[in-house]
Amino acid sequence: MIPLDEARQYVLDRVARLGSARVPLADAAGLVLAADVVAAEQVPPFANTAMDGFAVRAADVASVPVTLEVIGTVAAGSTLDGAVGPGQAARIMTGAPMPDGADAVVMVEKTTLDEAAGTVLIDLSVSEGNHVRRAGEDVEPGDLLFAAGTVLTAGHLGVLASVGVQDVECVRRPKVGVISTGDELVDDGRPLQPGEIRDSNRRTLLTLVAEAGWEAVDLGIAVDQPDTIRDAFAAGAVECDAILSSGGVSMGAFDYVKVVLDEIGDMRWMQIAIKPAKPFAFGLIDTTPVFGLPGNPVSSMVSFELFARAAIGFMAGHNDTDLPLLRAISEDTLGHGPDGKTHFLRVEGRIDDTGRWHVHRAGGQGSHQLTAMARADALALAPDGVEIEPGDEVRILLLR
Ligand code: AMP
Ligand code: MG
Repeated sequence: MIPLDEARQYVLDRVARLGSARVPLADAAGLVLAADVVAAEQVPPFANTAMDGFAVRAADVASVPVTLEVIGTVAAGSTLDGAVGPGQAARIMTGAPMPDGADAVVMVEKTTLDEAAGTVLIDLSVSEGNHVRRAGEDVEPGDLLFAAGTVLTAGHLGVLASVGVQDVECVRRPKVGVISTGDELVDDGRPLQPGEIRDSNRRTLLTLVAEAGWEAVDLGIAVDQPDTIRDAFAAGAVECDAILSSGGVSMGAFDYVKVVLDEIGDMRWMQIAIKPAKPFAFGLIDTTPVFGLPGNPVSSMVSFELFARAAIGFMAGHNDTDLPLLRAISEDTLGHGPDGKTHFLRVEGRIDDTGRWHVHRAGGQGSHQLTAMARADALALAPDGVEIEPGDEVRILLLR
């Protein structure tokens, strides 16, 4: 058995960043910028009011109450003809450009409009710049908006839209193929024949891929037969940036997956000092990384979390490949007799009012018991030979 960290490093050393492409903002959510983005426009593009009210000259309202002549109204999207002179004001709506001559805004609540007289009574003194958003207050042309490596979220895309950017240079979204292997697998809902089970791994893995923001490609079920397995992996390696397969990586006698992958790829078959997900294979078919995840449903998901998420994330431009472990308080006794392995237990949890996680077992911990994995919020790390008592600290890997 090899340590988890060694196996992770082996994988991370063999995956490469994907190339970049120009991507319209509409398709860029979750992608990583491949180049710095510099602003070409100012935000706000003109001085405008932050409030509904009256644009005035601050000097005119130094002593209040005072009555000013109303020379017009300026709504968002329009401009005022003329300028606000001494003793004058203009009605103005939030977002409308400040009229020439005016240098402050009095909010409408502090004014009384006399429409018939064409005047407004101002009840509040304001200083110059009051409620005025200066042009360029948020962004100036030439500002470095976001550096290469930034993961684009809603806020970033909003900023890019605000400066008129239409598309950005991003690391490509990885296209990830998912294959199930095994003669026992059924996926069409028909009644099971003796010995058959339903394929659940493909659904979970396709969903994990999609949730990670990658493009999921369903490569189907490859039965334990060399030609079928060869065709499925060879086609997948051409079409996809990475392949996740499940099953056929353990010691079973009919696992042609091993034979075929050794023939068409450069694979390393590993036994990792963890439970579940001890068997794991990784290698390349040409340049396409292949993650040979174990067949047991919990194991395949755990193996995805420990290996594929960080490695494919790196391909997609992410720099942080460490496992995002948090500290939590265990509410259960967690531990196991010495077996040389770190156990990853399925736990449910809650955050208390001080912001701390508390976790307890989510149910049956067998690697075939997917319901506990479905209910789990996290995997709790139980190191070999360490008994974690209720109230003790435990490290957890949140399941996103
Ligand atoms: P294997 O790694 O192929 O020896 O499979 C280990 C266990 O996982 C066996 O009980 C398989 O029946 C089960 N298994 C393999 N593939 C899947 C799958 N796609 N969905 C559900 N269970 C599976
Ligand atoms: Mg199998």
